[in-house]
Amino acid sequence: MYRIALPNKGRLAAGARELLRRAGLELEDRDDRALQAALGNDFQALFLRSRDIPEFVADGAADAGITGRDMVAESDRRLQVLLELDYGRCRLVVAAREDSDIDSITDLDEGTRVATSFPHLTREFFAAAGQPIRLVPVSGAAEIAPHLGVAEVIVDLVSTGSTLKINGLKEVATVLESSAVLVSRADFPENHARARRQRELVAALESVLRARDKRYLMANLPRRALDEVAAILPGMSGPTIVDVADSTDLVAAHAVVDRREIYRVIARLKAIGASGILVTKIERLMP
Ligand code: AMP
Repeated sequence: MYRIALPNKGRLAAGARELLRRAGLELEDRDDRALQAALGNDFQALFLRSRDIPEFVADGAADAGITGRDMVAESDRRLQVLLELDYGRCRLVVAAREDSDIDSITDLDEGTRVATSFPHLTREFFAAAGQPIRLVPVSGAAEIAPHLGVAEVIVDLVSTGSTLKINGLKEVATVLESSAVLVSRADFPENHARARRQRELVAALESVLRARDKRYLMANLPRRALDEVAAILPGMSGPTIVDVADSTDLVAAHAVVDRREIYRVIARLKAIGASGILVTKIERLMP
């Protein structure tokens, strides 16, 4: 059985479940406290803290895992990123008190105290910058440290930056950009049963990610406008054109269109006489 470690709670948990569900991998009904559950017919989900997932995957307790890129980097375990999952975007930043004169890491004195729950990445970042610091390890709520005089700066995650603002802090440098990723320990040998499962998993998730930014568009068009249609609807390999029953003047065109292009495409189709325009979401897309 191929085991996938999923965040049991927190910011990445709901996105992981939603992505798997869309890929056709439903979690079996279970008690909320259960630590494992069947995922479709061929996979087993293990529910772990996102911080622990790199460790469990690296040790082989799980074959793959969904967690933040920041967690993978902080764990310092060698894992391969199979897929960028396009959610949970955030940045690991250095922040200082808004009312301090620290505007860049070059303003930091030798031995500056840095509060963080990312000791490994913080140490590496300041070592690479040639800045000697003193680490103040915390397991959360680092934002309060500069106000309590426990540290001069913090290294913490931000997405919109509003938490920093509310806590009177300003961003000074970026350590790492992060978002959710699917990771595995290593390549399984090509013919290994788990290698096949892994390829299926990646293909299924990729098909969902690809479909997110696409829409399926259908429209009826005057047959005489056919030449212009191909230019407006590039589709995956050109639009599909089908006859409309009981009409010699009309054809129906179907195409996959970029979500952001829909409004422009509809306007252009209307200009050449399109009617009965229909736009739908796509669940999965395999080229
Ligand atoms: P958790 O501790 O389980 O809530 O997961 C935290 C993980 O969620 C982090 O390691 C990041 O990968 C991700 N994340 C995404 N956006 C944010 C954010 N604004 N603040 C903290 N973590 C975030």
